[in-house]
Amino acid sequence: MAEAYWDARLETMPREELSRWQWERLRQQLAYAYENSAYYRSAFEAAGVRPEAITSWEEFTTAVPCLTKLQIIEDQREHPPFGRLLAVKPQELIRIYWSPGPELIVFTPEDYASVVDLAAKAFFTCGVRPEDIVNVTCTYHWVIAGTVIDEAFRAIGCAVIPGGAGQSRMHLEVMRATQTTVLFAFFTFAEELGKVAVEMGFDPARDLSLRLAIVTGELRARTLRQELERTFGFQTREIYGASEVPFVAAECSEGGGMHLDPRFIVEVLDPHMQQPVPEGESGELVITDLVKRAQPSIRYRTGDITEGLESTPCPCGRTTPRMRPILGRVGQIPRVKGLFIVPREVEEVIGRHPELGRFQLIVDRPEIRDRLTVKIELKGAADALSLREVLIRELKEKIRVTADEIVFVPEGTLPVEAPIVEDLRRV
Ligand SMILES: [Zn+2]
Repeated sequence: MAEAYWDARLETMPREELSRWQWERLRQQLAYAYENSAYYRSAFEAAGVRPEAITSWEEFTTAVPCLTKLQIIEDQREHPPFGRLLAVKPQELIRIYWSPGPELIVFTPEDYASVVDLAAKAFFTCGVRPEDIVNVTCTYHWVIAGTVIDEAFRAIGCAVIPGGAGQSRMHLEVMRATQTTVLFAFFTFAEELGKVAVEMGFDPARDLSLRLAIVTGELRARTLRQELERTFGFQTREIYGASEVPFVAAECSEGGGMHLDPRFIVEVLDPHMQQPVPEGESGELVITDLVKRAQPSIRYRTGDITEGLESTPCPCGRTTPRMRPILGRVGQIPRVKGLFIVPREVEEVIGRHPELGRFQLIVDRPEIRDRLTVKIELKGAADALSLREVLIRELKEKIRVTADEIVFVPEGTLPVEAPIVEDLRRV
C-alpha cells in the first residue's frame, strides 16, 4: 500500500491528533494575519478579537468575523492593487490571478508550491497515478485553474496535455490519438464532450482510453453522473474548491464523497442565521486556510451550499470527514412555502422522464402565498396533460412542495443562460 496516499501521515492521522495539529496551525495563522494584514487587524479589532484570546474552537467560530468575496473585492478597489488584506510585501509575489469581480488572487513562491502540492494530493486521492496521460480542459488564462492543475498533474508524474477550454472536437481527436486515460473537466463540459463524440461517430467508451474523469463545478443529479460514466466507460471523481480556498476536498476511490484536506478548517453554517447547522446537515461552507500567507482566508464564506459532511470512517483509510455534493449557491436554493427547494432534486425527478429536457423554477408571490412554477422543455409530441399530473405528484414526494404550475415549452426554447431558479419575490 506504499502508494495509496500522497501524504500518508497527514491523510490517515487519527481525528484527535489531526484536531490538535489544525488547532496549532490555526493559532499561528490567526496571529500571522493579525500581525501582517491591515485588513484582518482592523476586522478583528472591530469585532473585539485578539488572536491570543482565542482558546477554543467555539471561540474561533463565534468570535472571529467571516470574510466574503465582496469584502475582498471592495478592499482591493479601495486600496489598489492588492488591498489591505495582503499580508506580504508586493515584491514577494510571483503569481497574480484575475477573477471576475475583479478580484486578484496572489501567491508567494511558497504559497504557489503549496497549492500545487495540494492539488496533486487531491488528484492522487481521486486515483490519478504517474502512468496516466491527462487532458486538462479548463481555462489556462487569467484565473487560478489550468496553470496550477497542469503543474499538479506533472508533480504526480503524469504526461499532461494542456488542452484548455472549448474546442470539443479537437479534445476528442487528441484524446483518441494519445490514448488519454484521465480527463479533467467541468461537469457540463464533460457532458458536452459526450454529445459531440456521438455526433462525430465515436463510441466514447470504445474509441477512447479514458478510465477516470475528475469533475468539478456545478454537479447535477446523480443519475446524470451515472449517465456520463456509462457514455465514456470511465469513473468520475469530484473535487471542490474556490479561488480563495482552492482544492478543499477530493473524492477517494470509494466514491462516497470528497475528503476534506487537513489544511482547511471547514464549517457548515446556516446561511441566514450564521450559526452551525446540526452535524451532517446542509448549509453554507465557511472555510479557513491554515497555510496561505499572501492572502490569508480566514472564515471565508464560499456562498456554496453543501448537502452536508459525513463523519463516519471511510474504507480508504483517510480520516478526514467527507463532503457531500454542492447543492447550489446561497440565494439559488429558494425557500418556498417554508421549505428549501434543491434544484438537483427537481432535476432527479425530471430526469426520470426521457421526454423532458431542461427546466426552470420560478418562484413568485402574487398575493400573500408563495407560488412555484416549473417550466420544462417537452420533446416531440408527448402527452402533456397526463405528464403534468405525474410530475406534480413525483415532485411533491421528492421536494415536499406542491408545484402550483407546470408549464411545458418546446425543446430548445429555454435560454441556456436562464437561471435554474428565478426568484421574483425579491423585487
Ligand atoms: Zn475515502
